[in-house]
Amino acid sequence: MKNYIIAIDGFSSCGKSTVAKDLAKKLAIAYVDTGAMYRSVTLYALKHGFITDCKFDEQAIISSLNDIDITFTYEASTGTNTTFLNGQNVEKEIRGIQVSQNVSKVSAIQAVRAKLVDYQRNMGQKTSLVMDGRDIGTVVFPNADLKIFMTARDEVRAQRRYDEMKQKGETVDFETILTNVKERDLIDTTRKESPLRKADDAVLLDNSDITKEEQFDFIINELKKRHII
Ligand code: C5P
Repeated sequence: MKNYIIAIDGFSSCGKSTVAKDLAKKLAIAYVDTGAMYRSVTLYALKHGFITDCKFDEQAIISSLNDIDITFTYEASTGTNTTFLNGQNVEKEIRGIQVSQNVSKVSAIQAVRAKLVDYQRNMGQKTSLVMDGRDIGTVVFPNADLKIFMTARDEVRAQRRYDEMKQKGETVDFETILTNVKERDLIDTTRKESPLRKADDAVLLDNSDITKEEQFDFIINELKKRHII
C-alpha cells in the first residue's frame, strides 16, 4: 500500500493533537506535532535571552537556527510523543504559558518557517503520517491525501487547554488562557507568512458539540470514503 498523509490544521487548542495521536495509534502510522517544533524554537529563544519582557530579537533567533536541533521519540504502547531540543527532553517546558505567549510571534518569522517546513516535508517522504499544525494542508503538504480543518468555539477551546494544564499541575487562570487562545488565533490568521486558513479542499470539522469518539469516527469515515484505508 502506498504511503499517505493526513493533514490536520486548525485553531489553537481545538484537540488536533489528541485526534492525530488516536489516528496514528489506530492506523499504525507516524504522528508529527509541528506545533512542538515552533514551541521548541521559542523555548530556545527564551532560554538564550533573545526574548524578554522588553525585547524580541528576531535577528538573534534567525542567526541561531542552525544551532537548534529538534527530534521526537514515539512510544507506540502508550501513544506518547516526546520532544527533544538539542538532545534534552523539553516536552513539559514547551507546553508552559511563557512559551505559549511567545510562540506565535516566533512562528511568524519567515526563516523559522522555512527551516521547519523543510524538516516536515522530509519526514513525509519516508512514511505514512498524520501531521497537525496551521499550514500543513496549505503549505507543507498541499497534496495531502486527506485534509481536515478543525475548529471549536473560543470558550470551549480555552476550557480544554485549562483542564489539560491543571491536570499537569500548572497554575493558570481561565481568563489568561482564553486571552492567549484568542491572541494566537489573531496572529496566526493575520501573519504574512503562511497564515492559518482552511485549504479549499479541506473538510471542516467543528468539534464544539461532539464527543472525541464522534470526531474520530468522522475522520475514519472520510479516510474510508477516499479509499485511503
Ligand atoms: O499546535 P500548537 O498550539 O502547539 O502550536 C503552537 C503555535 O505554533 C501556534 O499558535 C502557531 O503560532 C505555531 N504553529 C505554526 N504552524 C504550524 C504549527 C504551529 O505557525 N504548522
